Amino acid sequence: MKTMRNRVITLYIPFLLGCVFIIGSLQCAMLHLEKIIPSFSPLLFPTLTIFLLVFHLFMSCFMIMKYWCDRTRLYLVPIAFAFVGSAIMMVGTLASFPGWLDLYHFASVNYNDAMIFFLFRHLMMATLFLFSAFLFRLRRETVRPHFQQLVIFLIFLFTVGMLITAWLYSSHSPFLSMDLVDNENKQFMILWQKTYNMVLIALWCVTLAVLMSVTRLRNLFWMSGNFLCISYIAALVILLFAGRAEGYAWYTSRLFETIATLMMIFVLLCDVFHLYRLSNARYQQSYQNSIRDALTRLYNRSYFYDTLTHSLKSASENEPVSVIVSDLDRFKRINDTYGHLQGDKVLQFVAQLLMDSVRPEDIAARIGGEEFVLLLQNTGSADAQQVAERIRLSLSAYDKESSHGQLPESITISMGVYTATTSDVSAEACVGWADQAMYQAKESGRNRVVVWQ
Ligand code: GH3
Ligand code: MG
Ligand code: MG
Repeated sequence: MKTMRNRVITLYIPFLLGCVFIIGSLQCAMLHLEKIIPSFSPLLFPTLTIFLLVFHLFMSCFMIMKYWCDRTRLYLVPIAFAFVGSAIMMVGTLASFPGWLDLYHFASVNYNDAMIFFLFRHLMMATLFLFSAFLFRLRRETVRPHFQQLVIFLIFLFTVGMLITAWLYSSHSPFLSMDLVDNENKQFMILWQKTYNMVLIALWCVTLAVLMSVTRLRNLFWMSGNFLCISYIAALVILLFAGRAEGYAWYTSRLFETIATLMMIFVLLCDVFHLYRLSNARYQQSYQNSIRDALTRLYNRSYFYDTLTHSLKSASENEPVSVIVSDLDRFKRINDTYGHLQGDKVLQFVAQLLMDSVRPEDIAARIGGEEFVLLLQNTGSADAQQVAERIRLSLSAYDKESSHGQLPESITISMGVYTATTSDVSAEACVGWADQAMYQAKESGRNRVVVWQ
């Protein structure tokens, strides 16, 4: 009970106030425009309709794509059909304003047809939005594929049924008819003013109430969906007091709908942008995981060999490529004395030291248990020996205290250097020779650097 009260105060009331502010501002802008422009061009309404038609097609494509990516979001299907059905009905509306296409039918506007399509468009959209709210409640239930197909088929049938009914009532078919607007004086008929306008307002109010309580305005998408409902109610209320078609209310209602649809599109674009950033970050993370060693975060063996193979292609006397293979001395004893966990800490410490000792373009990798390798681009034998010597001295200078407990005692490393000055050599041969030099260092007493001769 308390949380409901909190939600009303912190969410529903600010949301409704925000909607009132936006719609109020738009209405004020329209009233101001009315003073500057006494009557609009007859092309404005069909132009706005074309815009809205395209926006609604966009919306329906977005919804279908979202559903395609995640089949648990069945509630998006009725919204997709609502927008695509709405776009098709707007083709009917455009046919009632032939002047946007055909110069000789500039004045022959069929307002009654436009209003019939408007009525059925709203009946269809409100019903499908309600159905979407119902499906949203079921989103956590496990739904069988057959049920999904049945639901989609029913939504399809309903949409097609509404499209056919609207067409049957329009002047395009002789079977049924309905008088909502007098085409001579553009006055709304009693049937519209006293019945259908009220019915639509009531239907959208019910849809809004259900949608708000079911979705609880949990994200920007549902906020924009609820805003669309509110803008429809506002548009219908304005039409209720208008008295005639083609007046300012007529344009205001279309403006509200266009702005609300644009907001929904904007929210969906933000959603796509957010998903793109998220998937890019995940891709980067998994790419880094695939080329790095999990314990030390140095590059792994395969990445090292790939990069070395690539670097060797351009190796020459002027662009030498050096490889330094290193192996910790008496590391088994560290493990045996202090345990594997402490041994891992030593490996991490040495890895960090190696990373800090080379340039950003160089590669530091772990190619075995406690065997590391450095790839130094554009580095001759003497310089590589200097780098190795610096690392060896630096590591041997650390003790338990200066390494903040990372090393349980002082530790030494043996290193072998090989420098390639031709592209004729393979990565495996380079590492093999550097490894041989490292074994010479081990054999000649450890804690030293040997350059392969
Ligand atoms: P040497 O000076 O001849 O290299 O002596 P050594 O004791 O270092 O000999 P060797 O290189 O054969 O020993 C490697 C040891 O490294 C054995 C293994 O227990 C340890 N080791 C390998 N991988 C890991 C690891 O991921 N974590 C830890 N803690 N130890 C590892
Ligand atoms: Mg060792
Ligand atoms: Mg070893």
